Amino acid sequence: MIKRVLVTGGAGFLGSHLCDRLVSAGQDVICVDNFFTSQKSNVAHLLGKPNFELVRHDVTHPLWLEVDEIYNLACPAAPGHYQYNPIKTIKTSVIGATNMLGLAKRTHAKIFHASTSEVYGDPTVHPQPESYRGNVNPIGPRACYDEGKRAAETLMFDYLRQNKVNIRVVRIFNTYGPRMHPYDGRVVSNFIRQALGGEDITIYGDGSQSRSFCYVDDLINGFLKMMDAPDDVHGPINLGNPGEFTILELAEQVIALTGSKSQIIHRELPEDDPLQRQPDITLARNTLGWEPKIALREGLTKTIDWFKSIDLSHYRPPTPNY
Ligand code: NAD
Ligand code: UDP
Repeated sequence: MIKRVLVTGGAGFLGSHLCDRLVSAGQDVICVDNFFTSQKSNVAHLLGKPNFELVRHDVTHPLWLEVDEIYNLACPAAPGHYQYNPIKTIKTSVIGATNMLGLAKRTHAKIFHASTSEVYGDPTVHPQPESYRGNVNPIGPRACYDEGKRAAETLMFDYLRQNKVNIRVVRIFNTYGPRMHPYDGRVVSNFIRQALGGEDITIYGDGSQSRSFCYVDDLINGFLKMMDAPDDVHGPINLGNPGEFTILELAEQVIALTGSKSQIIHRELPEDDPLQRQPDITLARNTLGWEPKIALREGLTKTIDWFKSIDLSHYRPPTPNY
């Protein structure tokens, strides 16, 4: 049966890939976005399709629609984006989630929520299982995002307990791929843009901090499996690629794959930058039968090809922080 599916943040990096998959599957898709960190070009190829609709709307304001499923992705995700207007970031997380939960409650829609590995903060347990409660600085520069996402998870589970809303919460670890905003300041987009442009590659700190990078197609498979999981599966479930790399190793791979002559330079490590991050995906494997398939080298090659294909002058840096 065709479902009416709302995707908030649907014009963003992850949201646009999700819309692609839902439109191809024949669902009736409503993409809602305020275009803070994205542009219509991410979904321009979907405009005009009878099962795709684009709505400019800010999720901190109520939205009245009739839908069967909601994917709640609206929120700036890159540190340079979410720290630009931190008060707006926490409002987007908390008021946005409240509005979408209210919509889910009224329409009896299933609601999927994009949470984050940032709920673990600078983790003292490694790798991070869902049972780990995290090490977040509640008053630091990342708190608007981390605490906003933690509060949104709280709301999700209170709506489940109090109102029987059918929630699906995933905690996403660093994901990369085509349609990342080239000026989002995230490490993969920065390094590829810098390598292709022959600019210095900026490593913050000594580059020994680690991250685990998941290719976008793998992640979206996890989203769809989570939404289709049995009714008693609510999460939170970690989605990410357990392959862990230091930031220095990432820089070296990007230089090798682009054949760039760029030099590595070091800049100050941002405050509260987590030292390490790796998902424990046992729960996703056992509950969803999901695991990532695309290795970093293959994913980086596809992402580099996409960066080579775009015209950077068509992208407006959403904030000065990149
Ligand atoms: P993105 O910035 O490309 O996408 C976010 C989208 O939300 C953008 O299109 C933006 O314009 C929109 N948006 C922001 N505020 C809004 C508002 N108030 N109302 C309506 N739309 C709004 O980032 P992304 O990487 O695609 O992230 C999508 C979601 O996944 C976010 O919720 C993010 O926190 C989560 N996430 C992403 C990653 C990752 O590595 N990409 C990791 C963890 C969690
Ligand atoms: N980073 C870096 N150089 C850059 C951008 C980021 O060394 O040009 C580092 C950053 O300090 C962090 C890691 O790369 O340790 C990942 O940063 P990103 O902003 O992509 O995501 P995070 O996981 O920190 O939210």
